[in-house]
Amino acid sequence: MRRLIVANYKMNGDKKLFAKIIKEVNKVKVRDTKIVLCPPFVYLDEFNLKNKNVELGCQDITNQENSKSTGQISPKMLLEFGVKYVIIGHSERRKIGETDEQINQKINICLNNKLKPIICVGEEKKSDKLDIVLEQINYALKNIDNNIIPIIAYEPVWAIGTGKLPAVNRINKMTRMIKAHLEKLGYTDSSILYGGSVGIDNYKMISDADIDGFLLGGVSLRIKEFIEIVKGIDNE
Ligand code: PEP
Repeated sequence: MRRLIVANYKMNGDKKLFAKIIKEVNKVKVRDTKIVLCPPFVYLDEFNLKNKNVELGCQDITNQENSKSTGQISPKMLLEFGVKYVIIGHSERRKIGETDEQINQKINICLNNKLKPIICVGEEKKSDKLDIVLEQINYALKNIDNNIIPIIAYEPVWAIGTGKLPAVNRINKMTRMIKAHLEKLGYTDSSILYGGSVGIDNYKMISDADIDGFLLGGVSLRIKEFIEIVKGIDNE
């Protein structure tokens, strides 16, 4: 199956850095990997992507159908800028109050507008029960047609930006649990990504896990390392 690598720039970067990133990513040659770049909204227009293996994504979308929504970004706006993927329910957004209901609304809005949601789930603490993740999936996919192929980014919150990593066994346990759960919900196919402190020194070990790709935060800003990871994964 084709690997998916998603770069989440969060609230980082500037025109100069993104120009450098775009130049390098436009040149990268991959056989069986798709790269999705998710800049902050205000930089979407800078992303003049000229590589058939690279797509544009973003980090959020409105949950409102109504245009009387100050500060929100509509699907129509994102489509106009060539966005194909939207990260939904990242733990950093859940932390500032995004609810399961809003996440479900955002997924609906994406799907109604042919945008692909990348649904982030993950337990808060290492000691948390992993069932929490399945509950997040239940809420996220409530009343969502099961003819879609959900993209789920499993991101243990305790591993994001901390340099701490789950053991490959734990990632495998979780991704298998997620796949089996999705099948039970009627989704016969799915794509499961791992995210949380992936870097140049550990990506090979993690890519041995039963995953379909990565959601990368910090390392996606370091273009040389990012490209090395992309190529390394593509060559596996
Ligand atoms: C993220 O924010 O989704 C993430 C995976 O960050 P990092 O790679 O920096 O842990």
